[in-house]
Amino acid sequence: MFKALLSAAAIFFTVLLLMTGAPMAAAPPANPVLPDVMAARVTTTADRARLILDLSLPSKFAIVALDGPNRIAVDVKAGSLKFDTATPPAGTGLVSSYTVDMAEPGRARAVLTLAQPAQIQQAYVLDAFADQPARLVVDIIPDPADNFAKRVASDLAATSASTPKPMTATSTPPGGSDIAATPGASTPTPATTAANGAATPTPPAAGATAATKPLIVLDPGHGGIDSGARAPNGIMEKTITLAFALKLQALLVKSGRFDVALTRADDSYLSLEQRVALARNNKADLFISLHADTFQQPQIHGASIYTRDEQATDDLDKVLADNENKTDIVAGFAVPKMTPAVVDVLVDLMRRQMRKQSYVAAESIIHELQPSIELRRFPVRQADFFVLQAPDVPSMLIELGFLSNADDIANLVKPEWQDRVADALARGVAAYFDGLNQP
Ligand SMILES: [Zn+2]
Repeated sequence: MFKALLSAAAIFFTVLLLMTGAPMAAAPPANPVLPDVMAARVTTTADRARLILDLSLPSKFAIVALDGPNRIAVDVKAGSLKFDTATPPAGTGLVSSYTVDMAEPGRARAVLTLAQPAQIQQAYVLDAFADQPARLVVDIIPDPADNFAKRVASDLAATSASTPKPMTATSTPPGGSDIAATPGASTPTPATTAANGAATPTPPAAGATAATKPLIVLDPGHGGIDSGARAPNGIMEKTITLAFALKLQALLVKSGRFDVALTRADDSYLSLEQRVALARNNKADLFISLHADTFQQPQIHGASIYTRDEQATDDLDKVLADNENKTDIVAGFAVPKMTPAVVDVLVDLMRRQMRKQSYVAAESIIHELQPSIELRRFPVRQADFFVLQAPDVPSMLIELGFLSNADDIANLVKPEWQDRVADALARGVAAYFDGLNQP
């Protein structure tokens, strides 16, 4: 019955478009500075929906929840719409229909009518890539009705409380966050909508955006039943990674520039999938998994940083990643599911962009580590680590050293060495974000 209603709504929308064939909106005089919206489309299932706006240039956006009926409105700074009709939603489910109009000169508004209360899972702007235009992507997932109602109320309050300001919800890079986890929180807060600003169709695109800090998710490797690698003297990887994560968290929080969340703040077990999900659901701006594994070759030592590449060919790195990917099985849990090969061009684009960014972040951190500690030869490396698979969060795995090497073991337990490394890591993270903020 419910489903039938949704389909009916979708069909109605289709018919309406076909019958009228009318422009979605009269285009205002083109503003040379503002990007144009070239095309719009929505795909939807019962569990999720995605709005894509093709843009002539990257733009800024703001999102707001509205009720009566339940809707999500996405405001984009834009000069004009370069299409006559938006294609009807592909599929049926969360979004029953949508419109795109010029709400006022300089602002386009997409309004998604919801079949059930929903929230933004993530929203970001992708730069143009190869022959693909710049895009605004908004992913939507269901939300309990009371949460949705709360968001409608707070969006409304944000608009009425403040004089409308120019839109400031600049898209952070994919995975960019408007969500602040509580600094020092052991578990990231559940993702909420990146809603900012305009709560009613009348005010100009208001951006009641509070300044938000980038969210760093630190992932101390292993934990609980899975102790990770173990040195001959009994020291366990899970203990070292947690100690490091806590030190690094304290430094990053102290800098005042970041929100920092840990995937675990005690000796508990989390599956690899859960770790990835925590970073993704909270739209982390950077995910750092910390490890001190063992290598079969005891002579291999020093710190290194891995970014993900499933095509990576180095045999030793492959063994390292394979072993790491087995930790869930070791702990008695199901084999983690690797993401299937590319199914979606957009996801592929996003993933490529994330990898580039992960690499840039790894380089920044290595640059700071270099003078402080011994590094492996070619310290920025690629391997197919499951925990680095988020397509929308720059992710890296840091091998602080190897518990198969005597020198590294001695270093890893030395508080002075730990402090020096944590310090360098914190500087590296800051340098990476400094780089992002440069024009
Ligand atoms: Zn490990």
